[in-house]
Amino acid sequence: MLFATSEVHPFSKTGGLGDVSGALPHALATLGHEVLVVTPWYRTLRGGARPLWIGDVQVPFAGGFEAAGVGTLESGHVRYAFVGHADYQRDDLYGYSDDVRRFARFTRAVPQVAARLGFRPDVLHAHDWHTGYLPMVLAHGWHLPDGFPGLPSVFTVHNVQYQGTSGLAEALWWLRLPGALADDYMNHFGSANAMQAALGFAHHVTTVSPTYAHEVQRPEFGYGLDGTFRHVRGKLSGILNGLDTHEWDPAADAHLPRPFDRRDLTGKADAKRALTAALGLDHERPLLGVVSRLADQKGIDLVVQAGERLVAQGWALALLGSGDAGLERDVRALAARHHGSVAAVVGFDEALAHLIYAGSDALAVPSRFEPCGLSQMIAMRYGTLPVARDTGGLHDTIDHQRTGFLFEHATPEGLLWATGLARAAYGGSSWPGMVDTAMRQDFSWEASAGRYAELYRTVVASAR
Ligand code: ADP
Repeated sequence: MLFATSEVHPFSKTGGLGDVSGALPHALATLGHEVLVVTPWYRTLRGGARPLWIGDVQVPFAGGFEAAGVGTLESGHVRYAFVGHADYQRDDLYGYSDDVRRFARFTRAVPQVAARLGFRPDVLHAHDWHTGYLPMVLAHGWHLPDGFPGLPSVFTVHNVQYQGTSGLAEALWWLRLPGALADDYMNHFGSANAMQAALGFAHHVTTVSPTYAHEVQRPEFGYGLDGTFRHVRGKLSGILNGLDTHEWDPAADAHLPRPFDRRDLTGKADAKRALTAALGLDHERPLLGVVSRLADQKGIDLVVQAGERLVAQGWALALLGSGDAGLERDVRALAARHHGSVAAVVGFDEALAHLIYAGSDALAVPSRFEPCGLSQMIAMRYGTLPVARDTGGLHDTIDHQRTGFLFEHATPEGLLWATGLARAAYGGSSWPGMVDTAMRQDFSWEASAGRYAELYRTVVASAR
Protein backbone atom coordinates (compact mmCIF):
# COMPACT_ATOMS: atom_id res chain seq x y z
CA MET A 1 0.00 0.00 0.00
CA LEU A 2 1.36 3.39 -1.05
CA PHE A 3 0.60 6.22 1.37
CA ALA A 4 1.10 9.79 0.06
CA THR A 5 0.90 12.61 2.58
CA SER A 6 2.17 16.16 3.04
CA GLU A 7 3.00 15.60 6.73
CA VAL A 8 3.75 12.64 8.94
CA HIS A 9 4.42 12.44 12.66
CA PRO A 10 7.15 12.26 14.03
CA PHE A 11 8.96 13.87 11.06
CA SER A 12 6.59 16.75 10.29
CA LYS A 13 3.27 17.87 11.72
CA THR A 14 0.93 20.82 11.77
CA GLY A 15 -2.22 19.01 12.90
CA GLY A 16 -4.41 15.93 12.82
CA LEU A 17 -3.25 14.87 9.33
CA GLY A 18 0.27 14.40 10.70
CA ASP A 19 -1.07 12.29 13.57
CA VAL A 20 -3.08 10.03 11.23
CA SER A 21 -0.19 9.65 8.76
CA GLY A 22 2.05 8.73 11.67
CA ALA A 23 -0.23 6.16 13.28
CA LEU A 24 -2.24 4.48 10.51
CA PRO A 25 0.70 3.00 8.52
CA HIS A 26 2.03 1.39 11.72
CA ALA A 27 -1.38 -0.05 12.52
CA LEU A 28 -1.61 -1.38 8.94
CA ALA A 29 1.88 -2.89 9.16
CA THR A 30 0.80 -4.64 12.36
CA LEU A 31 -2.06 -6.15 10.36
CA GLY A 32 0.51 -7.53 7.91
CA HIS A 33 0.43 -4.87 5.19
CA GLU A 34 3.55 -3.71 3.42
CA VAL A 35 3.43 0.08 3.54
CA LEU A 36 5.52 2.78 1.87
CA VAL A 37 4.85 6.35 3.07
CA VAL A 38 5.98 9.07 0.64
CA THR A 39 6.26 12.59 2.04
CA PRO A 40 8.23 15.80 1.31
CA TRP A 41 11.76 16.10 2.68
CA TYR A 42 11.32 19.34 4.61
CA ARG A 43 14.35 21.32 5.66
CA THR A 44 13.84 20.52 9.30
CA LEU A 45 12.59 17.01 9.95
CA ARG A 46 11.59 16.75 13.58
CA GLY A 47 13.25 14.41 16.02
CA GLY A 48 16.58 14.71 14.16
CA ALA A 49 15.56 12.13 11.54
CA ARG A 50 18.20 11.58 8.86
CA PRO A 51 16.97 9.73 5.80
CA LEU A 52 19.53 7.94 3.69
CA TRP A 53 19.94 9.79 0.37
CA ILE A 54 19.86 7.28 -2.45
CA GLY A 55 19.96 9.52 -5.52
CA ASP A 56 17.64 11.43 -7.83
CA VAL A 57 14.54 10.61 -9.83
CA GLN A 58 13.36 12.46 -12.94
CA VAL A 59 9.92 13.89 -12.22
CA PRO A 60 7.58 14.68 -15.14
CA PHE A 61 6.79 18.29 -14.31
CA ALA A 62 5.96 21.61 -15.99
CA GLY A 63 6.34 20.48 -19.57
CA GLY A 64 9.58 18.55 -19.01
CA PHE A 65 11.45 16.52 -16.44
CA GLU A 66 13.01 17.88 -13.28
CA ALA A 67 15.22 16.11 -10.76
CA ALA A 68 14.09 15.40 -7.20
CA GLY A 69 16.14 13.75 -4.48
CA VAL A 70 15.04 10.57 -2.74
CA GLY A 71 15.75 9.82 0.90
CA THR A 72 14.61 6.75 2.76
CA LEU A 73 14.44 5.25 6.20
CA GLU A 74 12.58 2.45 7.94
CA SER A 75 10.86 2.55 11.31
CA GLY A 76 8.68 -0.06 12.96
CA HIS A 77 8.08 -2.11 9.76
CA VAL A 78 7.04 1.00 7.82
CA ARG A 79 9.21 2.36 4.99
CA TYR A 80 9.39 6.09 4.43
CA ALA A 81 10.51 7.88 1.28
CA PHE A 82 11.27 11.60 1.40
CA VAL A 83 11.08 13.73 -1.71
CA GLY A 84 13.81 16.34 -1.73
CA HIS A 85 13.58 19.63 -3.63
CA ALA A 86 14.29 23.31 -2.99
CA ASP A 87 10.50 23.79 -2.82
CA TYR A 88 10.46 22.12 0.62
CA GLN A 89 13.50 23.95 2.03
CA ARG A 90 11.47 26.67 3.70
CA ASP A 91 10.66 27.72 7.26
CA ASP A 92 7.12 26.35 7.27
CA LEU A 93 5.36 23.40 5.67
CA TYR A 94 2.61 25.49 4.05
CA GLY A 95 1.35 29.01 3.72
CA TYR A 96 3.16 30.10 0.53
CA SER A 97 1.61 31.62 -2.59
CA ASP A 98 3.04 28.78 -4.73
CA ASP A 99 1.78 25.93 -2.50
CA VAL A 100 -0.33 24.34 -5.24
CA ARG A 101 2.67 24.23 -7.57
CA ARG A 102 4.90 22.85 -4.78
CA PHE A 103 2.52 19.99 -4.06
CA ALA A 104 1.81 19.35 -7.75
CA ARG A 105 5.53 18.64 -7.99
CA PHE A 106 5.34 16.37 -4.96
CA THR A 107 2.29 14.59 -6.43
CA ARG A 108 4.13 13.92 -9.68
CA ALA A 109 7.20 12.64 -7.81
CA VAL A 110 5.30 10.02 -5.76
CA PRO A 111 5.03 7.26 -8.42
CA GLN A 112 8.64 7.78 -9.62
CA VAL A 113 9.95 7.62 -6.05
CA ALA A 114 7.98 4.46 -5.23
CA ALA A 115 9.26 2.82 -8.42
CA ARG A 116 12.83 3.91 -7.64
CA LEU A 117 12.53 1.96 -4.38
CA GLY A 118 11.21 -1.05 -6.28
CA PHE A 119 7.85 -0.73 -4.56
CA ARG A 120 4.87 -2.13 -6.52
CA PRO A 121 1.69 -1.11 -4.62
CA ASP A 122 -1.75 -2.61 -5.17
CA VAL A 123 -3.47 0.56 -3.91
CA LEU A 124 -2.73 4.24 -3.25
CA HIS A 125 -4.01 6.15 -0.22
CA ALA A 126 -3.81 9.96 -0.64
CA HIS A 127 -4.77 12.65 1.88
CA ASP A 128 -6.22 16.15 1.61
CA TRP A 129 -5.68 18.58 -1.28
CA HIS A 130 -1.87 18.37 -1.30
CA THR A 131 -2.01 14.91 -2.85
CA GLY A 132 -5.47 15.39 -4.35
CA TYR A 133 -4.27 15.27 -7.97
CA LEU A 134 -2.71 11.81 -7.57
CA PRO A 135 -5.81 9.77 -8.48
CA MET A 136 -6.21 11.87 -11.65
CA VAL A 137 -2.53 11.52 -12.51
CA LEU A 138 -2.77 7.73 -12.09
CA ALA A 139 -5.82 7.69 -14.36
CA HIS A 140 -4.50 9.99 -17.12
CA GLY A 141 -0.84 10.84 -16.54
CA TRP A 142 1.93 10.27 -19.03
CA HIS A 143 5.35 8.94 -18.00
CA LEU A 144 4.13 6.74 -15.15
CA PRO A 145 6.31 3.79 -14.11
CA ASP A 146 5.13 0.25 -14.84
CA GLY A 147 2.24 -0.84 -12.64
CA PHE A 148 1.10 2.68 -11.83
CA PRO A 149 -1.34 3.59 -14.64
CA GLY A 150 -4.84 2.92 -13.36
CA LEU A 151 -3.70 2.05 -9.83
CA PRO A 152 -6.76 1.93 -7.51
CA SER A 153 -6.90 4.83 -5.08
CA VAL A 154 -8.51 5.89 -1.82
CA PHE A 155 -8.64 9.58 -0.90
CA THR A 156 -9.24 10.82 2.65
CA VAL A 157 -10.65 14.25 3.44
CA HIS A 158 -9.27 15.56 6.74
CA ASN A 159 -10.63 19.09 6.34
CA VAL A 160 -12.68 20.29 3.38
CA GLN A 161 -11.98 23.95 4.13
CA TYR A 162 -8.58 23.74 2.39
CA GLN A 163 -8.87 22.69 -1.28
CA GLY A 164 -5.77 23.74 -3.24
CA THR A 165 -7.02 26.04 -5.98
CA SER A 166 -5.12 27.53 -8.92
CA GLY A 167 -5.57 28.34 -12.59
CA LEU A 168 -6.67 25.41 -14.79
CA ALA A 169 -4.06 25.83 -17.52
CA GLU A 170 -1.16 26.14 -15.10
CA ALA A 171 -2.24 23.11 -13.04
CA LEU A 172 -2.41 20.97 -16.21
CA TRP A 173 0.97 22.30 -17.33
CA TRP A 174 2.61 21.49 -13.98
CA LEU A 175 1.08 18.03 -13.85
CA ARG A 176 1.71 17.34 -17.55
CA LEU A 177 -1.87 16.21 -18.13
CA PRO A 178 -4.02 16.39 -21.29
CA GLY A 179 -5.88 19.68 -21.80
CA ALA A 180 -9.24 17.91 -22.06
CA LEU A 181 -9.14 17.34 -18.27
CA ALA A 182 -9.82 21.06 -17.82
CA ASP A 183 -13.48 20.19 -18.39
CA ASP A 184 -13.43 17.33 -15.89
CA TYR A 185 -13.55 17.06 -12.09
CA MET A 186 -10.62 19.37 -11.48
CA ASN A 187 -12.73 22.26 -12.77
CA HIS A 188 -14.60 23.99 -9.98
CA PHE A 189 -16.41 27.01 -11.42
CA GLY A 190 -13.52 27.77 -13.76
CA SER A 191 -10.66 27.21 -11.30
CA ALA A 192 -8.54 24.13 -10.77
CA ASN A 193 -9.44 22.48 -7.46
CA ALA A 194 -7.19 19.66 -6.23
CA MET A 195 -9.65 18.35 -3.68
CA GLN A 196 -12.52 18.16 -6.16
CA ALA A 197 -10.24 16.33 -8.62
CA ALA A 198 -9.62 13.74 -5.89
CA LEU A 199 -13.34 13.39 -5.13
CA GLY A 200 -13.94 12.67 -8.80
CA PHE A 201 -11.04 10.37 -9.66
CA ALA A 202 -10.43 8.38 -6.46
CA HIS A 203 -12.04 4.94 -6.42
CA HIS A 204 -13.27 5.62 -2.90
CA VAL A 205 -13.43 8.75 -0.73
CA THR A 206 -13.44 8.76 3.06
CA THR A 207 -13.81 11.45 5.69
CA VAL A 208 -12.28 11.09 9.16
CA SER A 209 -15.62 10.46 10.86
CA PRO A 210 -18.95 9.00 9.64
CA THR A 211 -20.97 12.08 10.61
CA TYR A 212 -18.61 14.42 8.73
CA ALA A 213 -19.24 12.30 5.59
CA HIS A 214 -22.89 13.34 5.80
CA GLU A 215 -22.22 16.92 6.80
CA VAL A 216 -19.91 17.73 3.87
CA GLN A 217 -22.86 17.06 1.56
CA ARG A 218 -24.61 20.11 3.05
CA PRO A 219 -23.92 23.72 2.04
CA GLU A 220 -23.11 24.81 5.62
CA PHE A 221 -20.22 22.33 5.80
CA GLY A 222 -19.16 21.71 2.20
CA TYR A 223 -17.20 24.92 1.52
CA GLY A 224 -18.51 24.94 -2.05
CA LEU A 225 -17.94 21.21 -2.63
CA ASP A 226 -21.20 19.95 -1.07
CA GLY A 227 -22.69 19.38 -4.53
CA THR A 228 -19.68 17.32 -5.57
CA PHE A 229 -19.85 15.30 -2.36
CA ARG A 230 -23.53 14.59 -3.04
CA HIS A 231 -22.63 13.56 -6.58
CA VAL A 232 -20.01 11.04 -5.38
CA ARG A 233 -21.85 9.85 -2.27
CA GLY A 234 -22.04 6.30 -3.65
CA LYS A 235 -18.31 5.96 -3.03
CA LEU A 236 -18.14 8.11 0.12
CA SER A 237 -17.90 6.86 3.71
CA GLY A 238 -16.44 7.89 7.06
CA ILE A 239 -13.82 6.08 9.12
CA LEU A 240 -13.13 7.49 12.56
CA ASN A 241 -9.55 8.40 13.41
CA GLY A 242 -7.91 6.53 16.24
CA LEU A 243 -5.83 8.00 19.04
CA ASP A 244 -2.18 7.29 19.78
CA THR A 245 -2.93 5.53 23.05
CA HIS A 246 0.77 5.27 23.96
CA GLU A 247 1.34 8.99 23.72
CA TRP A 248 -1.95 9.71 25.52
CA ASP A 249 -1.95 7.37 28.48
CA PRO A 250 -2.69 8.71 31.98
CA ALA A 251 -1.09 5.61 33.48
CA ALA A 252 2.27 6.38 31.84
CA ASP A 253 2.42 10.12 31.23
CA ALA A 254 5.70 11.78 32.16
CA HIS A 255 4.05 15.22 32.11
CA LEU A 256 1.86 14.44 35.14
CA PRO A 257 2.89 14.67 38.79
CA ARG A 258 1.62 11.12 39.30
CA PRO A 259 0.14 8.56 36.86
CA PHE A 260 -3.44 7.39 37.30
CA ASP A 261 -6.03 5.04 35.88
CA ARG A 262 -9.74 4.54 36.33
CA ARG A 263 -9.30 2.37 39.43
CA ASP A 264 -7.37 5.04 41.28
CA LEU A 265 -7.95 8.69 40.46
CA THR A 266 -5.74 10.23 43.15
CA GLY A 267 -3.20 11.11 40.44
CA LYS A 268 -5.93 13.06 38.66
CA ALA A 269 -6.60 15.09 41.82
CA ASP A 270 -2.83 15.73 42.05
CA ALA A 271 -2.84 16.94 38.45
CA LYS A 272 -5.65 19.36 39.24
CA ARG A 273 -3.76 20.67 42.24
CA ALA A 274 -0.60 21.17 40.17
CA LEU A 275 -2.54 22.83 37.36
CA THR A 276 -4.52 25.26 39.52
CA ALA A 277 -1.36 26.15 41.46
CA ALA A 278 0.58 26.78 38.24
CA LEU A 279 -2.16 28.95 36.75
CA GLY A 280 -3.26 30.70 39.98
CA LEU A 281 -6.80 29.31 39.85
CA ASP A 282 -9.28 28.66 42.65
CA HIS A 283 -8.81 24.96 43.42
CA GLU A 284 -12.31 24.46 44.84
CA ARG A 285 -14.16 25.24 41.63
CA PRO A 286 -14.91 22.60 38.99
CA LEU A 287 -12.34 23.17 36.26
CA LEU A 288 -13.26 23.56 32.59
CA GLY A 289 -10.24 23.22 30.27
CA VAL A 290 -9.65 24.28 26.67
CA VAL A 291 -6.77 23.05 24.46
CA SER A 292 -7.25 24.27 20.93
CA ARG A 293 -6.06 26.06 17.86
CA LEU A 294 -7.55 29.53 18.05
CA ALA A 295 -9.39 29.50 14.73
CA ASP A 296 -12.97 30.28 13.80
CA GLN A 297 -13.62 26.55 13.27
CA LYS A 298 -13.00 25.81 16.94
CA GLY A 299 -15.67 28.18 18.37
CA ILE A 300 -13.44 29.55 21.13
CA ASP A 301 -15.18 32.91 20.61
CA LEU A 302 -18.25 31.23 22.16
CA VAL A 303 -16.24 30.49 25.31
CA VAL A 304 -15.10 34.12 25.39
CA GLN A 305 -18.66 35.44 24.96
CA ALA A 306 -19.96 33.05 27.62
CA GLY A 307 -16.98 33.72 29.91
CA GLU A 308 -18.78 35.84 32.55
CA ARG A 309 -21.66 33.39 32.74
CA LEU A 310 -19.38 30.34 32.92
CA VAL A 311 -17.73 31.86 35.96
CA ALA A 312 -21.20 32.62 37.37
CA GLN A 313 -22.11 28.94 36.88
CA GLY A 314 -19.24 28.18 39.22
CA TRP A 315 -16.49 27.08 36.79
CA ALA A 316 -12.84 27.95 36.78
CA LEU A 317 -11.39 28.07 33.24
CA ALA A 318 -7.94 26.96 32.04
CA LEU A 319 -7.43 28.01 28.41
CA LEU A 320 -4.47 26.98 26.22
CA GLY A 321 -4.34 27.93 22.56
CA SER A 322 -2.68 29.87 19.80
CA GLY A 323 -3.55 31.13 16.37
CA ASP A 324 -5.83 34.03 15.48
CA ALA A 325 -4.43 37.26 16.96
CA GLY A 326 -7.87 38.67 17.82
CA LEU A 327 -8.85 35.51 19.71
CA GLU A 328 -5.51 35.47 21.51
CA ARG A 329 -6.24 39.02 22.70
CA ASP A 330 -9.80 38.07 23.70
CA VAL A 331 -8.84 35.07 25.85
CA ARG A 332 -6.11 37.11 27.55
CA ALA A 333 -8.61 39.89 28.29
CA LEU A 334 -11.12 37.41 29.72
CA ALA A 335 -8.46 36.04 32.07
CA ALA A 336 -7.48 39.57 33.13
CA ARG A 337 -11.11 40.34 34.06
CA HIS A 338 -11.49 37.16 36.13
CA HIS A 339 -8.31 36.80 38.05
CA GLY A 340 -8.32 33.54 39.99
CA SER A 341 -11.18 31.95 38.05
CA VAL A 342 -9.96 32.23 34.43
CA ALA A 343 -6.38 31.61 33.24
CA ALA A 344 -5.22 31.86 29.62
CA VAL A 345 -1.92 30.67 28.20
CA VAL A 346 -1.28 31.72 24.61
CA GLY A 347 1.15 29.43 22.80
CA PHE A 348 1.76 25.81 21.84
CA ASP A 349 2.71 23.92 24.99
CA GLU A 350 2.73 20.12 24.88
CA ALA A 351 3.42 19.67 28.61
CA LEU A 352 0.70 22.08 29.72
CA ALA A 353 -1.75 20.43 27.31
CA HIS A 354 -1.17 17.08 29.05
CA LEU A 355 -1.70 18.70 32.45
CA ILE A 356 -4.94 20.40 31.34
CA TYR A 357 -6.35 17.15 29.93
CA ALA A 358 -5.51 15.38 33.21
CA GLY A 359 -6.23 18.12 35.73
CA SER A 360 -9.53 19.48 34.37
CA ASP A 361 -12.94 18.12 35.29
CA ALA A 362 -14.44 18.93 31.89
CA LEU A 363 -13.08 20.06 28.50
CA ALA A 364 -14.90 22.55 26.26
CA VAL A 365 -14.88 21.68 22.54
CA PRO A 366 -17.37 24.11 20.96
CA SER A 367 -16.29 23.55 17.31
CA ARG A 368 -18.47 24.93 14.51
CA PHE A 369 -17.39 21.91 12.46
CA GLU A 370 -15.08 19.08 13.45
CA PRO A 371 -13.98 16.47 10.87
CA CYS A 372 -12.93 14.14 13.72
CA GLY A 373 -11.21 15.91 16.61
CA LEU A 374 -8.69 14.33 18.94
CA SER A 375 -8.93 16.51 22.03
CA GLN A 376 -12.29 15.09 23.13
CA MET A 377 -10.90 11.54 22.91
CA ILE A 378 -7.80 12.51 24.87
CA ALA A 379 -9.96 14.18 27.53
CA MET A 380 -12.16 11.08 27.98
CA ARG A 381 -9.09 8.87 28.34
CA TYR A 382 -7.95 11.17 31.15
CA GLY A 383 -11.33 11.09 32.93
CA THR A 384 -12.25 14.61 31.81
CA LEU A 385 -15.76 14.90 30.42
CA PRO A 386 -16.06 16.78 27.11
CA VAL A 387 -18.67 19.50 26.73
CA ALA A 388 -18.86 19.67 22.96
CA ARG A 389 -20.81 20.80 19.94
CA ASP A 390 -22.92 17.99 18.46
CA THR A 391 -21.12 17.83 15.09
CA GLY A 392 -18.79 15.61 13.03
CA GLY A 393 -16.43 13.41 15.00
CA LEU A 394 -17.62 14.92 18.27
CA HIS A 395 -21.06 13.44 17.58
CA ASP A 396 -19.48 10.07 16.77
CA THR A 397 -17.25 9.81 19.85
CA ILE A 398 -19.28 11.40 22.66
CA ASP A 399 -22.40 9.89 24.13
CA HIS A 400 -24.56 12.70 25.57
CA GLN A 401 -24.89 12.42 29.36
CA ARG A 402 -23.04 9.11 29.36
CA THR A 403 -19.47 10.08 28.40
CA GLY A 404 -19.89 13.86 28.03
CA PHE A 405 -22.31 16.61 27.10
CA LEU A 406 -23.36 17.69 23.60
CA PHE A 407 -25.06 20.89 22.49
CA GLU A 408 -26.60 21.72 19.16
CA HIS A 409 -26.43 25.47 18.59
CA ALA A 410 -23.11 27.20 18.02
CA THR A 411 -24.02 30.06 20.34
CA PRO A 412 -22.89 31.09 23.83
CA GLU A 413 -26.33 30.01 25.09
CA GLY A 414 -25.93 26.56 23.50
CA LEU A 415 -22.59 26.12 25.21
CA LEU A 416 -23.97 27.43 28.54
CA TRP A 417 -26.86 24.99 28.38
CA ALA A 418 -24.41 22.08 28.22
CA THR A 419 -21.98 23.47 30.79
CA GLY A 420 -25.05 23.99 33.01
CA LEU A 421 -25.89 20.29 32.71
CA ALA A 422 -22.29 19.38 33.46
CA ARG A 423 -22.18 21.79 36.40
CA ALA A 424 -25.35 20.26 37.85
CA ALA A 425 -23.94 16.75 37.46
CA TYR A 426 -20.53 17.60 38.88
CA GLY A 427 -20.19 16.39 42.45
CA GLY A 428 -23.40 14.38 42.15
CA SER A 429 -23.86 10.62 42.09
CA SER A 430 -23.80 10.27 38.29
CA TRP A 431 -20.43 11.98 37.71
CA PRO A 432 -18.04 9.19 38.82
CA GLY A 433 -19.93 6.67 36.66
CA MET A 434 -19.67 8.97 33.64
CA VAL A 435 -15.94 9.47 34.24
CA ASP A 436 -15.46 5.72 34.47
CA THR A 437 -17.44 5.08 31.27
CA ALA A 438 -15.51 7.80 29.44
CA MET A 439 -12.18 6.29 30.53
CA ARG A 440 -13.23 2.84 29.32
CA GLN A 441 -13.86 3.95 25.72
CA ASP A 442 -11.57 2.30 23.18
CA PHE A 443 -10.14 4.92 20.82
CA SER A 444 -7.12 2.89 19.70
CA TRP A 445 -6.16 2.70 16.00
CA GLU A 446 -6.72 -1.03 15.73
CA ALA A 447 -10.39 -0.93 14.78
CA SER A 448 -10.01 1.94 12.30
CA ALA A 449 -6.97 0.38 10.62
CA GLY A 450 -9.02 -2.77 10.11
CA ARG A 451 -11.70 -0.71 8.36
CA TYR A 452 -9.15 0.89 6.03
CA ALA A 453 -7.66 -2.53 5.25
CA GLU A 454 -11.11 -3.83 4.36
CA LEU A 455 -11.71 -0.79 2.16
CA TYR A 456 -8.40 -1.30 0.29
CA ARG A 457 -9.42 -4.92 -0.38
CA THR A 458 -12.80 -3.83 -1.74
CA VAL A 459 -11.29 -1.13 -3.95
CA VAL A 460 -8.63 -3.46 -5.34
CA ALA A 461 -11.17 -6.22 -5.99
CA SER A 462 -13.62 -3.94 -7.78
CA ALA A 463 -10.86 -2.40 -9.92
CA ARG A 464 -9.89 -5.83 -11.24
P1 ADP B 1 -7.00 20.07 14.80
O1 ADP B 1 -6.15 19.04 14.12
O2 ADP B 1 -8.15 20.56 13.99
O3 ADP B 1 -6.21 21.22 15.37
P2 ADP B 1 -7.55 17.99 16.75
O4 ADP B 1 -8.42 17.98 17.96
O5 ADP B 1 -7.75 16.91 15.75
O6 ADP B 1 -7.69 19.42 16.10
O7 ADP B 1 -6.02 17.91 17.21
C1 ADP B 1 -5.41 18.93 17.92
C2 ADP B 1 -4.15 18.41 18.59
O8 ADP B 1 -3.27 19.51 18.82
C3 ADP B 1 -4.41 17.78 19.94
O9 ADP B 1 -3.42 16.80 20.17
C4 ADP B 1 -4.22 18.96 20.91
O10 ADP B 1 -3.84 18.54 22.20
C5 ADP B 1 -3.08 19.71 20.22
N1 ADP B 1 -3.07 21.15 20.49
C6 ADP B 1 -3.89 22.10 19.97
N2 ADP B 1 -3.55 23.32 20.43
C7 ADP B 1 -2.50 23.16 21.27
C8 ADP B 1 -1.68 24.05 22.05
N3 ADP B 1 -1.89 25.37 22.06
N4 ADP B 1 -0.69 23.51 22.79
C9 ADP B 1 -0.47 22.18 22.79
N5 ADP B 1 -1.19 21.28 22.06
C10 ADP B 1 -2.19 21.77 21.31
